[in-house]
Amino acid sequence: MMNYTFIDTHSHLDGEEFKEDLDEVIARAKEMGVSKIFLPGVDKNSIDSVSKVCRSYPEYCLPMIGLQPEEVKADWKEVLNVMKERLDGSIAQGDTVTKYIAIGECGLDFYWSREFEKEQLQAFEEQVKWSVETGLPLMIHCRKAQNELLHILKDYENDLPGGVFHCFTGNQKEAEEYLKFDKFVLGIGGVLTFKSSHLREDLPAAVPLSRIVLETDSPYMAPVPYRGKRNESGFVKEVLKQLALCYQVSETEVAQITNANVKRVFGI
Ligand SMILES: [Zn+2]
Repeated sequence: MMNYTFIDTHSHLDGEEFKEDLDEVIARAKEMGVSKIFLPGVDKNSIDSVSKVCRSYPEYCLPMIGLQPEEVKADWKEVLNVMKERLDGSIAQGDTVTKYIAIGECGLDFYWSREFEKEQLQAFEEQVKWSVETGLPLMIHCRKAQNELLHILKDYENDLPGGVFHCFTGNQKEAEEYLKFDKFVLGIGGVLTFKSSHLREDLPAAVPLSRIVLETDSPYMAPVPYRGKRNESGFVKEVLKQLALCYQVSETEVAQITNANVKRVFGI
């Protein structure tokens, strides 16, 4: 019997990939020790799909709202308007079931394309302002854009409640740049378990456990020994086990510290 539980802070359980067996996925997550699952928004459609899952598993699946940078297209302003209305509505109604716990995932991603670079920058800054206004933390997605991203964040640093740099896979230098934002933590997922990953050395060298939260990014990024398969929230256990090994602490300690980090950033 396990004597600790832990949290998957980033899981797209509203995706098509889970249409057939979400009940089983949730049951397995609970069995593995996952105490809560946070669901990011990515686009307009995800507003409803995320809220549907969270209504089906109240208190267990908790929603975020935001526009993922790869989803920033010509219509980004209209999409953000719809999201902001939902966000304000949820706050005004005191809706407890779909009470948003964070803004995101939002950020910058110039990996595949810079076609909407300007729009991405504006859309991200807008969502940063939502975070300041609502006091909800940011769930940040950043790929090939760290300098541009931190440049925007810096302007709001004092007023921001905090957040997560999700799916961190960078080097020590990049980690240190992020950690300068002292109300923020790094989201660590399945990449940590990949054979080729340098994170097992770089994280203990540059990042205290008090600055890490666990995530799966399901259905993507499945950890070893599930690599290449559909990821699911229960697999976050493999990330926890790997962190315990590379920080040379017990699994219980990783669970306790990462839970405390979630509490500090999300109040949950
Ligand atoms: Zn994501």
